[in-house]
Amino acid sequence: MFSMDGETLVRCPSCDGYGWLDEEDGSTADCGWCAGAGYVFRSEQGTDRVIPESDYGRVAGELEALERERLREMGYSGDAKKPWEQAIRLDRNDGLAQRGAPDA
Ligand SMILES: [Zn+2]
Repeated sequence: MFSMDGETLVRCPSCDGYGWLDEEDGSTADCGWCAGAGYVFRSEQGTDRVIPESDYGRVAGELEALERERLREMGYSGDAKKPWEQAIRLDRNDGLAQRGAPDA
């Protein structure tokens, strides 16, 4: 298992790897437990902490492997989509939606 300085990367126990949570009103919000990453560092003592942005480069490969494993569990066989990529895509869709349909 991957470990760095005694810590391991684990799926976020709050959002189960999604990086966001469904709100009661049907909207979604970034998971506060993992800051939207879907994964957290877990120490030997069992305490979780957000993956610092400065560590993303070092754990990117492991995050991708974990994400592929998660998607396989869900029966999805395509390319892994990381939460932040999905957020970017959603932003793009919003922009297109605001522009509206082209004039006929
Ligand atoms: Zn989370």
